[in-house]
This record gives sequence, structure tokens and C-alpha cells, in this order.
Amino acid sequence: MNDDVGAAKYQINRCSKCGSCREVCPVFSEMGGEPWVARARVQLANAAIEGQLGFSRRFKEIMESCLLCKACVTHCPNGVRVDKLVLWARQEAVRKQGLPFIKKSILRNVLRYNHRLELFARVLAAYRATGLRLSKREGLLLPARTAPFGRLAHIKKLEKPSLLVAYFTGCMTRYVYHQTGQAVLDVLEKNNVQVVLPGQYCCGMPALAAGDSQTVRELARRNVESIMKAGVDYIITDCATCGEMLKNYGEMFPEDTVRDFSNRVQDISFFLVHTIGTLPKTGELPLVVTYHDPCHLKRGQGIWSEPRKILAGIPGLSLKEMAESDRCCGSAGSFGLTHYDLSMKILRRKIENIRATGAQAVVTGCPSCRLQIEYGLKEEGIFIPVMHTVDLLSQVYGPANASLSLPSVCQRQELVAPTANN
Ligand code: SF4
Ligand code: SF4
Repeated sequence: MNDDVGAAKYQINRCSKCGSCREVCPVFSEMGGEPWVARARVQLANAAIEGQLGFSRRFKEIMESCLLCKACVTHCPNGVRVDKLVLWARQEAVRKQGLPFIKKSILRNVLRYNHRLELFARVLAAYRATGLRLSKREGLLLPARTAPFGRLAHIKKLEKPSLLVAYFTGCMTRYVYHQTGQAVLDVLEKNNVQVVLPGQYCCGMPALAAGDSQTVRELARRNVESIMKAGVDYIITDCATCGEMLKNYGEMFPEDTVRDFSNRVQDISFFLVHTIGTLPKTGELPLVVTYHDPCHLKRGQGIWSEPRKILAGIPGLSLKEMAESDRCCGSAGSFGLTHYDLSMKILRRKIENIRATGAQAVVTGCPSCRLQIEYGLKEEGIFIPVMHTVDLLSQVYGPANASLSLPSVCQRQELVAPTANN
């Protein structure tokens, strides 16, 4: 709907101005004023369409302060798609005024080209290695690797695989969480699923969030062309954000091939539970964990019971639910960098909820949330690891009756080891 004023109007007209969204909006709860809630964003979008308001700095500030977490959408009695309205407003602002120079350079000159993205990751890794910190928010910058995951991945050729899947790693697994990428490959191999790693690009979510529809279209075209050539049954991802974005290509660009592509996309947890059913595990992992629901997984794709089913199936592991497990952690892609103070306030509530569980580890299904939570835990002096669901699952597909411990898992997964106090 992003190009469509009629569709935007349809959403606006469904808003009864009841204000229920105030109860769930993390931004409103921290900022505390009417401009920061969904209802105001709906009315602002309307004023812009009716020509009563220009795309002023204040207008953009309010639209850009939305996390796109969809808490208001699922809570709204009329199901108003506030997230889509916010995206529409950002896109209109870009269409009328263009992108700011730095954003434009990153989105159009780096994100679209893998070799430039790789160079960017190398520069970031080199900078981080110096130990220099010009600002506190740099702690949220990616702990980048110098080589993309695809170059280091171990993929076994199976004799008679039951399915052929493409693994869409996403930028975070490609440049940050290599160990999770390998865990995905290992678990799929144990389930007799042949994996291929076709050429792939950023899913386009950073461009969508910035209102850059031109870059979104370009990245979607490249991903669909490259991955569909592989002739796979499914396209699997371990990133909640990428998964939602790839599934939405079909709605954004309704051509047959794109729809076919989107219909094949599955989050790894959904794939394991519904498409193949996981094999019995052999190891035991006595561990108490808590689970954070990523917005893009729970509200974006309706996936929340699947990771819990996987965790429940791990021998010895117990899940201690945190309060507000599906409340946004404040990450929202680059939101933590652009709105550091607000993001940290939202994160603090998440960290307190984690702390209250007394869990030995945090599990989640989105690398962006993982990075944010890792940062928040460290800031609060809580040294427990944050993992992907599949990181844990891969551990119990090991030698028969192996009894694993948290430190050994941390060592294998290159995670923060717990200290004596935790
Ligand atoms: S967006 Fe939904 S919850 Fe918020 S004021 Fe409008 S109708 Fe009410
Ligand atoms: S999407 Fe999230 S941050 Fe944005 S208005 Fe709705 S509840 Fe608030």
C-alpha cells in the first residue's frame, strides 16, 4: 500500500480515536505525550494527505520515532495498520524531499552492493579492534567479522535429502553471528535437509524503514532473481526481520514469481516444527532460559509457540517466561543508533524483566534483538549469554547421551560466558 493514498485513507478512516494504543506503545510510555502514540501518527498522516500539514521536521521526527513494533496494531480494536501508515508517511517524505545525504549514501551506495558492504564490515571490524570509542552508542555497532559467513560455512552434500532449501542468512548472520549460521546448517543437516547458499543481498528492511522504496525494489528484485534460480523447496531464515521482509515482497511487488518466492519463505523455527518436525535429540542441556519474542516474529509472522516448542523439546532445559516477553526491546534496526536515549529507556525495561526471571541465558529469534539485549545486559553488569533458539538445539544433536553445560555451550558458540555471580 505504500504508494497508495487510497489504502492509507482506508486505514485512517478505521481509527475511532479511542486511544487504546496508549496502553501498549513503548514510545508513548517513555515519552509520555500525545504526539508519540499511534493515534497521533494516524491523525498526522491524515493531515498530510488532506494538505493541512507539510512534511516538516517535526512531522518526520514523530514518524521516525515509531519502532514499527506493531504492538498498537494487534491491540487496536479496529486493527488499524499504524505501521503501514508510518511507512507510507516516511516514503512520502522521501519522495517529496529526498533522503538525507548520509542515509542516501549508505542505502544506495553500500547496502545494494555486497562487496561494498563487506568492505564496510572490514572497516568497522578494524575500528572496533583499535578499542577506540567516540560515543557510547558505538557499543551498539555490529561486532563485525572480516569475512562473510557464506565463505566459511560448512555445508555437507547429502545422499538422499528429503528437501532442498536456500538459507537466507541476512546481514547479521553474514557479518556478526557466524556460529548461529553454522548451527542452522548443522540442524538442517541432522534433519536430512540439503542446504544451498545462493547469492543474496540485504533483505531491504533498513531501506523500507527509511522510506527508500527505490532501494527496496532493487534489493527485492536481486534476491528473488538469485534465489529462485536455485530451484529450492523453501527459503529458510533465522532472522525474524529478514523473514517478515521476504514474506512481504509478494504483497509489495505482486508479480507471480515474487509471490511464489514469498510463499516459500519460512522462519527456521516454523520450518523445524511444522514442515519437517524435529528429530529426537541425543544430548541433555540442564539450563534455565527465558525467551524474548521479537516483534517481527510474533506480530510480524505470528510465530511465538514454535520456538517455545523447540525449547520444550530440549532434554533438561526449562523455560522461565519473563514478563512482557513480546514487548519491543528498543532495537528496531538502526533505531538504537538514531534514537539512543529512547532506545535505552525501552531496553532497560526489557533487561529488568529478564533479570527478574533469574534465567541463566536469554533466547530469541532475531539477531537485531540479540545484539540490543547483549548490549543492555552488559551495561547492567549481567553476564549471561543471549542465543538463538537454534544455537541451543544444535548442541543437543551431539554425541549420544552427552550432558552439556552452559560454559561448554558458550565456548562452542563463542558467547559471553557466565561469571561466578551469575
Ligand atoms: S489506532 Fe486503533 S487503538 Fe489507536 S486510537 Fe485509533 S482505533 Fe484506537
Ligand atoms: S508501532 Fe509500536 S512504536 Fe509505533 S506507534 Fe505502534 S506501538 Fe508505538
